[in-house]
Amino acid sequence: MKKEALAIVLEKFNEPLMVRAFPIPILKEGEILVKIEAAGVCGSDVHMWEGRDPRIRLPMIPGHEGAGEILEMRGEKKDDYGNPLKVGDKVLWNRGITCGQCYFCKVKREPSLCLNRWVYGIHTSCAEPPYLTGNYAEYLLLVGKTDLFKIRTGIDLSVLVPASCSGATAAHAFDLSEIESGDSVLIQGVGPLGIFSVAFAQSFGASQIIVIGGTKERLQMCESFGATHTLNRHQLSKEKRKEAVMEVTHGRGVDVSFEMAGEPDALKESISLVRTGGACISAGFGEPHGTIDLDCFHDIGRKNLRLQGVWVSETRHTHMALQLILSRIQDFKKLITHTFPLARANDAIRVMKAKEAVKAVLLPHG
Ligand SMILES: [Zn+2]
Ligand SMILES: [Zn+2]
Repeated sequence: MKKEALAIVLEKFNEPLMVRAFPIPILKEGEILVKIEAAGVCGSDVHMWEGRDPRIRLPMIPGHEGAGEILEMRGEKKDDYGNPLKVGDKVLWNRGITCGQCYFCKVKREPSLCLNRWVYGIHTSCAEPPYLTGNYAEYLLLVGKTDLFKIRTGIDLSVLVPASCSGATAAHAFDLSEIESGDSVLIQGVGPLGIFSVAFAQSFGASQIIVIGGTKERLQMCESFGATHTLNRHQLSKEKRKEAVMEVTHGRGVDVSFEMAGEPDALKESISLVRTGGACISAGFGEPHGTIDLDCFHDIGRKNLRLQGVWVSETRHTHMALQLILSRIQDFKKLITHTFPLARANDAIRVMKAKEAVKAVLLPHG
């Protein structure tokens, strides 16, 4: 058994990530040490590196999306499907840890809003034990409260890691949407959140899946996931986009729109393209990014609009995203456009920042 593990450390914002060695901690009761086989690089990791995420404390090991193999465990544990876990099992874990005790956990049963929620590779500093608290590393220590899903052997874990964050957040959006089979749907944004939303829209039985995005290749990818209409915002003006949406929705607008772009203008457009009595679900904003003005009468009251924000996700959403990927694994392979060894984490951040990658994944053990 190795005594030390290599990990990628964010020490200073906007400066190269560093490779550092950390002692592998001795496990306490209930803890699990995993060998990280794949760590997803999320758009929010780029924001953390830029110092735009108020939740983090330096130095820290980034990475909140991961999957790997159980290397060591202290005590007995089952996964969320009831499977007993053992050394050698492949697992994917829910990124957030919640308290189970606060008002949101206990009374409202909304653990994604838990007052004490923390996330591997976001809220944890590596300055103190157990050090190995982020997924950009050879090993990760999972605390006893972590929710795990056992993965059958032979599955490429790198394809599954987006379930941890963008997939789960998209699942949360659909969970809150009250979408009905046959509904028409608009999705704005063609990053992983948008692409997951297309796949969820199809699995929920949407009749029309209209996507607005700015990249031809990604709009094509959305079509392969089930988009029925794609609108390139660089080629079509806002008026033309509205015409196109009204044409396929009998002049009403869509039943449900999903803002997955994180742009204020997109949210405003999203509201304008929802039918009277419809719902606009906004999941794109992971950090402060500006404001919009709304006409209180026309946009909200007379429209009987339901405007629903979405903040992070909970374990059931990770399950929904994981099962969605497993049901279409060949399609979701296309999402992983870049893979890098651990030591090239800086390149992974760069291709995500430049939007060259739909999804980059680090493979710490090759
Ligand atoms: Zn709580
Ligand atoms: Zn994320």
